[in-house]
Amino acid sequence: MGIVVQKYGGTSVGSLEKIKNVAQKVVSQHKKGDKVAVVVSAMSGQTDSLIKLAKGLVNSPDPREMDVLVATGEQVSSALLAMAIKEIGVPARSLLGFQIGLKTDKAFTKARIMDIDVDALMKVLNAGEIAVVAGFQGVTDEGDITTLGRGGSDTSAVALAAALNADVCEIYTDVDGVYTTDPNICHNARRLDVVSYDEMLEMASLGAKVLQTRSVEFAKKYNVKVLVKSSFQEGPGTLVTKEDSNMESPIVSGIAYDKNEAKISILSVPDKPGVASTIFTSLSDANINVDMIIQNVSIDGKHADMSFTVGVTDFDKAIALLKNLGKSLGAKDVLGDTNIAKISIVGAGMRSHAGIAARMFAALGKEGINIQMISTSEIKVSCAIDKKYLELAVRVLHDEFKLDKPGGAVA
Ligand code: ADP
Ligand code: ASP
Ligand code: MG
Repeated sequence: MGIVVQKYGGTSVGSLEKIKNVAQKVVSQHKKGDKVAVVVSAMSGQTDSLIKLAKGLVNSPDPREMDVLVATGEQVSSALLAMAIKEIGVPARSLLGFQIGLKTDKAFTKARIMDIDVDALMKVLNAGEIAVVAGFQGVTDEGDITTLGRGGSDTSAVALAAALNADVCEIYTDVDGVYTTDPNICHNARRLDVVSYDEMLEMASLGAKVLQTRSVEFAKKYNVKVLVKSSFQEGPGTLVTKEDSNMESPIVSGIAYDKNEAKISILSVPDKPGVASTIFTSLSDANINVDMIIQNVSIDGKHADMSFTVGVTDFDKAIALLKNLGKSLGAKDVLGDTNIAKISIVGAGMRSHAGIAARMFAALGKEGINIQMISTSEIKVSCAIDKKYLELAVRVLHDEFKLDKPGGAVA
């Protein structure tokens, strides 16, 4: 008899029929004698609708109120799932963030988990009940509702599994595991039996939304065994775990993409010490994360153009801030482009192989896909390209690095 945490994403609880299906799965786990804590997302499309509702009212909704609003999605699905489980005849109880003391910091809309009241949860589990926890939400020390960023229910689940010292954290979703790339846009994508925390972390942070990045950080930190599976079909799924020497370590193990970044360029700022610091400090003070950055110095050596990417949700705020700042710095103009996408190749094997980036650029070039920005680390290479070529680029790179074959490409 162990403790199992199961998380069901939006599509898995997207209709009453699907909620009934989830209830059956949860109950069969409980019948095995395990203590079961379930984490649910909002029904599919619900969080988007709530955000749209707020944006229809005001341009930039107050983040505190936004969290009060969007957290309701998970309140609905947790109550419905608890009802469906009880209907089968098994005791269950819905629990909101505040009821399990899921404490976060005050960063509304992207809060971080600080603590969980394990005693409150264990009381429910020890009473033989299934705990149905509303994912994505938490509460500050002051009692304000917070949310954990888009896709945050994954993080609720892994954090719960860590706090409960659960045997496993099962993430049930609409695909049957983690693939070499998004199986919905590349039919040759291959399911991985095992993926290391580090590779999954890189894939997630580069856009593979199958797991929220922070959930993988948590899993790695607390050594939580995460199993990604389909809600709709049986199968082995993908185990996310510590790297071991037997794991396949191809040069490129996956391709990730992110359509949620936008490019901003500040043209012709003076090329002198302190300018970059002024620009990026203002952005970070406004809690805007910057990703890829390039700077070109003009031929006269006195001016520079700076381009970088920010999340699309921060785009309007960043443009407004930089138009102001640009004036005081003497910039010629500030331009924005939301038609970009970032495509990345990821692989621990890249550490020891030269020429992988060149091969990526050549494969994109052959298809006439222009590279607008580049960034690299020892286990990834990312390029910003025109959004309209994204799907083609994913398929081209998947072929180039032979990701449909176990072992992938060799040097
Ligand atoms: P949920 O609502 O269950 O949390 P998400 O939509 O957040 O589900 O995540 C699942 C989706 O992630 C899949 O439908 C798939 O399109 C996408 N995805 C992106 N990259 C990958 C990948 N490498 N492996 C599997 N799925 C991926
Ligand atoms: N409902 C939230 C979202 O759509 C959280 C989640 O699904 O994990 O982002
Ligand atoms: Mg998700």
